[in-house]
Order: sequence, then C-alpha cells, then structure tokens
Amino acid sequence: MSSRFVAGFRIEDALSATAALESQGMTVTLDSLGENVSSPGQARQSGQIYHNLLDAIAQSKLNANVSLKLTQMGMDLGRDLAFDVVSGLVQQAVRNDGFVRVDMEGTPYTQATIDLVRQLHAVPENRGHVGIVIQAYLRRSAQDIETLLADGIRIRLCKGAYSEPPDLAFPAKKDVDGNFVALTKTLLKSGLYHGIATHDDAMVAAAKAFARTERIDPASFEFQMLYGIRRDLQRSLVKEGYNVRVYVPFGEQWYPYFMRRLAERPANVIFLAKNFFRN
Ligand SMILES: Cc1cc2nc3c(=O)[nH]c(=O)nc-3n(C[C@H](O)[C@H](O)[C@H](O)COP(=O)(O)OP(=O)(O)OC[C@H]3O[C@@H](n4cnc5c(N)ncnc54)[C@H](O)[C@@H]3O)c2cc1C
Repeated sequence: MSSRFVAGFRIEDALSATAALESQGMTVTLDSLGENVSSPGQARQSGQIYHNLLDAIAQSKLNANVSLKLTQMGMDLGRDLAFDVVSGLVQQAVRNDGFVRVDMEGTPYTQATIDLVRQLHAVPENRGHVGIVIQAYLRRSAQDIETLLADGIRIRLCKGAYSEPPDLAFPAKKDVDGNFVALTKTLLKSGLYHGIATHDDAMVAAAKAFARTERIDPASFEFQMLYGIRRDLQRSLVKEGYNVRVYVPFGEQWYPYFMRRLAERPANVIFLAKNFFRN
C-alpha cells in the first residue's frame, strides 16, 4: 500500500517518478523521508542526501525542488546544527538555481521554523531560494503570513497534518477551510509565487474563482498535491492550464509519513480505498 504514496527507496526511484510526472506536465518537490534524527552524524547524513538530490536535479535538468524537515536536519539536537545543515543546502540551491522548501512540523517547531527560514532568507544571495510552509489550521497563521510576506518569502499553504490542541488550532473542519480560503486570497494577492497545497475540491475551486475575479495570472501560483493522491484532480488542473507541483516522498523511512496520510483524518482510510478505484 505504501508504494501508492511513496515513490521508492532510492534517489533513482524518486528521479524516475519525477520524470514521469514531468512528462504529464507537472513539476515536483522531492522529499527524502525521515524525521527526528538522534545524532549530529545522522543529521549531516540526511543533509548529504539532499546535496545529492540537488545535484541530481541540476544534472538531469529536472523541473524539481526539494522539501525537508528541520527535525531531520538535527533541530532537536540544537538549532545551530539544523541551521548549519540547511544553510549549506540553500547555498547549493543558490549555485544550482534551485529552491529549498522547509516543511512545517508540529507546533513545538512553528516559531523556530519561521525564525530559521527568515534568518536564512535574510542572507541577500539566498533570497528566493528558500521557502516555508504555513498551516491553515493554526490560529496564528494569518499573522505569520503577514510577517513572511513582508520579508518576501514564498509560502506553501496547507491545512496541517499534526494533532494540535484547540487553543492553537481550529478543531472544526469548516473553520480550517474558512481560514484556508482567506489565507489563499492573501497569498494570491501578494505578488509572490506561492503554492496552494490541497486535494480538497472546494479549496481548489475557491482559489480558481478568486484568481479569475481578481484577474490574477494562473502562472503566478501553483497547486501542490501529494504523490498518489487525487491524481485525477492533478491531471485535470494541468489540462486547464494551471501549474501543478507534486510532492514526491522517497526513502526507507516511509512509515511515519504513510501513517500520517492514513491517520490525518479517520475518513482517510476510506478515502484511500476510494482513491484506489477513482484513479
Ligand atoms: C504538497 C503538500 C505538502 C504538504 N506539506 C505539509 C507540511 O509541510 N506540513 C503539514 O503539516 N502538512 C503538510 N501537508 C499535508 C496537509 O496539511 C494535509 O494534511 C493534507 O493535504 C490533507 O488536507 P487537504 O487539503 O487535502 O484536505 P482534506 O479536507 O483533508 O481532504 C480533502 C480531500 O482530499 C483527499 N485526500 C486528502 N488526504 C488524503 C489522503 N491522505 N489519502 C487520500 N485522499 C486524501 C480526499 O479526496 C479528501 O476528500 C502537505 C500537503 C500537500 C498537498
């Protein structure tokens, strides 16, 4: 079942999945799976996989960037370690004209992730080569987006995949969705290139409608979806002329990612079954 969501174990598997998606008119962000490493050596090893990935992307001239998690880069062992590893990756992305997206994890990491990405982005040559993720389920997100947009940082907006307490995150889907639409509008109006990451037809429809009424060029933003989820929607958006980027995870540590996909909403186990038949 996991192969439906994960492209394989090796970089080569991820690159062939990328080439296949490119041939369908999509771009990709590659994620080497893993989180919460327990030694600096492991953090640097995780960083090395991303160095190899950035090189492979440049050499194969693929239209792809990378997504990483700070806990995988040693954040729990020390902020300086994570900063050092990610900074090295962003510098390589600058040399390759690439882009590093820092995923957003649970709320213990929200402020630290924002601070770290802002610090990286403040280095003049890094500008435009590092971006962040904001989760619409968090009550703080409108404020965070305002700060990040003032810095000119590119944002991926998603609903949020972690279990969070109600004082920090909206518990009701309708409030998360309402915030997602409001934040989408802020991002689309900002003049920066952002990613609207969702498989939700209603969220996609709201983004399209807003872009249409505000005369926002569809080329100025992208929809993002996870590998293997709503492939029908991915394809139809490409057909309609929208930019679509697929998040392609690979690697041996697939289990937590796979379980999040199944567990993020109890109904997702049913969605999974339904999606097997839909695509
Ligand atoms: C490109 C991308 C990057 C992401 N990065 C992050 C990140 O950095 N941090 C973070 O917290 N979260 C991240 N997420 C996950 C996100 O927060 C949500 O948990 C996930 O996308 C489900 O929300 P949804 O917008 O698709 O809407 P939902 O309301 O959850 O689902 C809407 C519809 O999408 C389909 N669907 C959704 N999830 C699944 C699934 N697992 N299996 C099958 N069908 C499904 C179903 O058809 C469902 O009806 C990312 C998501 C995407 C697409």
